Amino acid sequence: MFYTVSKEDEYLFLGKRKRLVEQLRVKGISNSAVLSAIEKIPRHLFFDPSTGRPAMLEHAYSDKALPIGAGQTISHPFTVAFQTEKLEIEKGEKILEIGTGCGYQTAMLVEMGAKVFTIERQKTLYDKTKLFLPYIGYQTIRFFYGDGYKGLPQHAPFDKIIVTAGAPYIPNDLLVQLKVGGIIVIPIGEGEQQEMNVLKKISDQAFEKQVIGKFKFVPMLQNKV
Ligand code: SAH
Repeated sequence: MFYTVSKEDEYLFLGKRKRLVEQLRVKGISNSAVLSAIEKIPRHLFFDPSTGRPAMLEHAYSDKALPIGAGQTISHPFTVAFQTEKLEIEKGEKILEIGTGCGYQTAMLVEMGAKVFTIERQKTLYDKTKLFLPYIGYQTIRFFYGDGYKGLPQHAPFDKIIVTAGAPYIPNDLLVQLKVGGIIVIPIGEGEQQEMNVLKKISDQAFEKQVIGKFKFVPMLQNKV
């Protein structure tokens, strides 16, 4: 059901990950825990097995966004590293992720020592990733099939929130479910490009906002499918 690789390929892929880490460093990622997580996570396993070994060898560790099925994409490694760095994660923090997708970003959050709650609106991706991540060793994640615009009020508040789809605006429910002192990282924009918004909640009503860099995400859509 999932892709498996030989010991020899494992070694080859590790070499490719080390090179990817160097590229990310050059592009400005400096958090050592983020870079160690990129070096550790077998990104080649997150693609559909039908992608085939040659395509995986060529693309899994290049800094590209690639299809993961159901019309969705796995984000660029740089985007994943950038969003993770901006969350300023401390071990043991409770993090809400909107847009599980193939689960690569989800695995990053676990490697950073977080307790992860993740929501996906596409049933096929939800079903697949909920089996896949525990299968490769990530057993503590809480998976939810639902609409990320609503967050998870039953599990709030969260120390940090990350949105991995392009949102037209910052959903108020997510701001409410963030702890005071917490951070939300969310790409905003409805067109081809989104701007990364990083908001720190400084009181129940007040936020400090930074807008940094342009990115390309699939859209954050309403309701489950
Ligand atoms: N972090 C993922 C990115 C996947 S792309 C990865 O690296 O694989 C964005 C994902 O957000 C898609 O899987 C899409 O189905 C999901 N999504 C879009 N709108 C959503 C919403 N309102 N609630 C939850 N998930 C949503």
